[in-house]
Amino acid sequence: MSLIVQKFGGTSVADVEKIRAAARKAIRAHTQGHQVVTVVSAMGKNTDRLVELAYELNERPPAREMDVLLSTGEQVTVALMAMAIESLGYKAVSLTGAQMGIRTDNTFTKARIQSIDTQRIQGYLDAGNIVIAAGFQGIDDEFNITTLGRGGSDTTAVALAAVLGADTCEIYTDVDGVYTTDPRLLPEARRVEVVSYDEMLELASLGAGVMHNRSIEFAKKFGVPIHVRSSFSDTTGSMIVAECESESSPVCGAAMTKNEARVTILGVPDVPGTSLDIFSRIADRKIAVDMIVQNMGTEGRADLSFTVPNSELAVTLEAARDAIEKIGAQGVSYDENVSKISVVGLGMAQQTGVAHRMFSALAEAGINIYMITTSEIKISALVPRDKAQDALRVVHNTFKLDSVAEDARNWSRIQHDRSQTADLQSVVATLQDDTLEKLTLTDIALVPDQARITLLGVPDRPGIAADIFADVGKSGIFVDMIVQGYDGEDGTTSVSFTVPKADYANSRAVAEALCKKFNLRGIEGADDIAKLSVSGIGLRSHTSVGTIMFRTLAQAGVNIQMINTSELQVNVVIQSDKAAETERLLRETFAESLRS
Ligand code: ADP
Ligand code: ASP
Ligand code: MG
Repeated sequence: MSLIVQKFGGTSVADVEKIRAAARKAIRAHTQGHQVVTVVSAMGKNTDRLVELAYELNERPPAREMDVLLSTGEQVTVALMAMAIESLGYKAVSLTGAQMGIRTDNTFTKARIQSIDTQRIQGYLDAGNIVIAAGFQGIDDEFNITTLGRGGSDTTAVALAAVLGADTCEIYTDVDGVYTTDPRLLPEARRVEVVSYDEMLELASLGAGVMHNRSIEFAKKFGVPIHVRSSFSDTTGSMIVAECESESSPVCGAAMTKNEARVTILGVPDVPGTSLDIFSRIADRKIAVDMIVQNMGTEGRADLSFTVPNSELAVTLEAARDAIEKIGAQGVSYDENVSKISVVGLGMAQQTGVAHRMFSALAEAGINIYMITTSEIKISALVPRDKAQDALRVVHNTFKLDSVAEDARNWSRIQHDRSQTADLQSVVATLQDDTLEKLTLTDIALVPDQARITLLGVPDRPGIAADIFADVGKSGIFVDMIVQGYDGEDGTTSVSFTVPKADYANSRAVAEALCKKFNLRGIEGADDIAKLSVSGIGLRSHTSVGTIMFRTLAQAGVNIQMINTSELQVNVVIQSDKAAETERLLRETFAESLRS
């Protein structure tokens, strides 16, 4: 018998009428012959209200008590939903996270799922019940209630779909699918028919709040097809599957993280191990750092900038100050009024000039870029918060995200493709206890023969990145990683990029011309570097990956010249003479997480 997991978000169960409507959707699937598990969120804005109550009583509410409090929201909805179904004449049973045996680690407010006891759920289903599951919660080894992080009901739903071997996971919400960007921010955003796991994972972690990013980790790991659709109509929505919508479009979506903060650690001694000290302290607090850029400093010191969600700034500064004292850095500066604008697309890995198109669009709109990082399928730019909305619009326009590409996949095609995906049961059969939300790495790779160019003293003005990459692009050089750093001291920034070693001389010539044209302070470069990539699923949100990498590199006495992180890869640029040895060490260190 087929099994469907449905999930209804807060707005979709906000009042009695909506709960009844959701109950009818569950019953309809049941009467069509499916076994049905329905995951529900807290009603309406109840979780927000509970958070407010907590802060009225305590400025720093203990995380354990926060979870006891927040889990009550979902407990209310499961009971009401079961009652609604019963009143319509069908059998239903409500279950909390603990009752379903959703075991998590003990990171309160951000717990990760370790295992789920499917027997109880399956027993209720086999007895003819619709099972109503509380989203977003679990229990740790000591019987403490835990929650999975805001928006975590999506993760409960996809995790249940994975372990129960469901045919599909339907996410019912207040939009009718996944859009090219948040339709509340840009009315011209377009609903997509299909988006790939990789793209959705990046988009969700870069601000597309329609799905909890960790739910996509599960979906990708276990091949769960997700159908995001409206609670308020019966139209089909968007599918999140392995394929992307269009092979020809470089970008599938844009996202904004409005409340981001930039932190710069000033005067970091340029010796192996300092990054480890800084980032491990932040990672221990489960804060995902993004846009890491190290500026070449003077006198053996460098400035290290990165971004964190604004809500995590206070805790990050606490960690940073501890690290500064320990490693003898000179201080810290930060900017709370910045936003991150990102574009994502599987297609950009094959196309050149995508970054340049984005920088030009921002330049034409007169928007200054403070920091840039690129990785294989995303480009992020840090901009002033009061320009963020404009920035999102111009970027969306520039990649023509409002129109459908000619080679776009449509629904019938996806259905067809789906029937060819691996048998879910066989995937589930390979699951072992405690492995559900663990880090999964797919590869560690060394890309030798790379070169780096760094432009120093680049004036901090709108358009400069576009100008630079216009000239680099014209020379036909293939640019891989780009990072533009923040330099607090003299109002300039530095821009580094990597190219194949064979293009080094050519790139240096272009850099020298740029240096004259824009009156830069100087250029710096190296043609003896290599890129080391660790690939996997959910790497940025598994905050320990960075720490482990930094530790391994520090132990090997290797200095990191450039770094970029995404949910799919962490790349570091290092000296080539130590690259092979470092790769070996990384393989050894990550052996357990590397899938055979
Ligand atoms: P739920 O309570 O059902 O989980 P959420 O509020 O978490 O609903 O997610 C739905 C919201 O996500 C939409 O109302 C929309 O404003 C926002 N959103 C952000 N990015 C996107 C996107 N790319 N596509 C669709 N919706 C998005
Ligand atoms: N109720 C929780 C929240 O508001 C979980 C969820 O809705 O997904 O964050
Ligand atoms: Mg949500």
